[in-house]
Amino acid sequence: MNDKNKGLATRCIHAGEIKDAHGSPHTPVYTSTTFKFDSTADLLDVVDGKKPGSLYTRYGLNPTLFSLEEKLAALEGAEAAWAFSSGMAAEAALFFAHGRKGVVCIGDAYGGTMEFLASQLPELGIPTHFLLGSELDGLKTFLETGASLVFFETPTNPTLEVLDIRKISDAAHEYGALVAVDNTFASPVNQNPLALGADFVVHSATKYLGGHSDITAGALMGPKELLAPVWNWRKNLGAMIAPETASLLARSLRTLVVRVERQNATAQIVAEAMAGHPGVARVFYPGLADFPGHAVAKSQMHGFGGMLTLEVKGAYEDAVRMVDKLRLFAIAPSLGGVESLVTMPVTTTHHGLAPDERARRGISDTMVRLSIGLEDAADLIADLGQALG
Ligand code: PLP
Repeated sequence: MNDKNKGLATRCIHAGEIKDAHGSPHTPVYTSTTFKFDSTADLLDVVDGKKPGSLYTRYGLNPTLFSLEEKLAALEGAEAAWAFSSGMAAEAALFFAHGRKGVVCIGDAYGGTMEFLASQLPELGIPTHFLLGSELDGLKTFLETGASLVFFETPTNPTLEVLDIRKISDAAHEYGALVAVDNTFASPVNQNPLALGADFVVHSATKYLGGHSDITAGALMGPKELLAPVWNWRKNLGAMIAPETASLLARSLRTLVVRVERQNATAQIVAEAMAGHPGVARVFYPGLADFPGHAVAKSQMHGFGGMLTLEVKGAYEDAVRMVDKLRLFAIAPSLGGVESLVTMPVTTTHHGLAPDERARRGISDTMVRLSIGLEDAADLIADLGQALG
């Protein structure tokens, strides 16, 4: 069942599920690394792509993987989706396939993405360029040099800057460049970049899609024609998700909507409570009416997400003391799980940046990033209150 007219919650549960001979309501886990054929002719049909079929798991030709990918595509309203062993594996395959003439990265991105773009791709002779979200006028210059891929996250980490997907996609397409949006922070419940003009959506499925901090996975969604050149990169980098993980991810996706809607609601309550707290200098959350990205977020998001950042009053030491006093929020560098997590960008995601570069990007030493889980809002607010003292 992959009916595009059905609601997202329905697609999350039913899309891609295959029925087995025993009546299992969900796709079984096929752990097989290889699949048998009745004849050489049958095998060749699949090898040559004349017939769909299972062949070899690392290639992605496995029923559990087909089932997951149909569900992933349905979530983003994409023609197709490919699953990966991690979000970085999905990004790497995308950059190799479509970014070889140059990648422009706009705004802040995950530290691993930044390292890959800033150090590793240039080592291979692939040009990469960086623009702040406030420097969009400079995009044209890089596109004129022939850059083939524009990549960005929105909302960004950790300042929750909201970038206008439609505007950037239109600008990139004028020069024939493709656009990929990392939709990890928003999740498909809150934002669908393909509907706003992007060509690809990439996810660290380790976060909201997995949702329980117990699987590492990635996904890339887009039109079949544009995904086709990514195929050999995924296959030969060995970046395929394991069937066991694929099954866990499909399990998690069935509850994606209820989890994220609850996380949205709790994050809004926590953000509003923290905005009035005397120990907090500033709250970064797209759902706050006075947040600079609020208007664009309202126009392109269905919900404002479960991520927010506080700027604690005082110095770095005060922020560290506050984080160390938290009891419900666990200090851990990830997001999107059922349990609330806390990190300081200066000690984790942006630790490797020089202080003046952090300052240029608006990242201060007193920023505390919260990933809101499924606990009661009152308990989270009480925990933040006691820690802020
Ligand atoms: N994109 C974003 C926004 C992330 O936060 C992360 C990881 O934290 C990644 C991509 C990379 O994902 P993974 O850890 O699954 O490789």
